[in-house]
Amino acid sequence: MGQKIIKCSQCEEEFETGFDYRMHWEVHLDAYFNQIQKETPKSQE
Ligand SMILES: [Zn+2]
Repeated sequence: MGQKIIKCSQCEEEFETGFDYRMHWEVHLDAYFNQIQKETPKSQE
């Protein structure tokens, strides 16, 4: 049983390796960019 040493800063999940953490982070990245696109007003046209 490995110890979970990396805790996600965006949620309560913990991971044993940086790889697992990175793969998990894509979930947050998708939400993050979707949020930015919604909040960013149309600039140049
Ligand atoms: Zn997370």
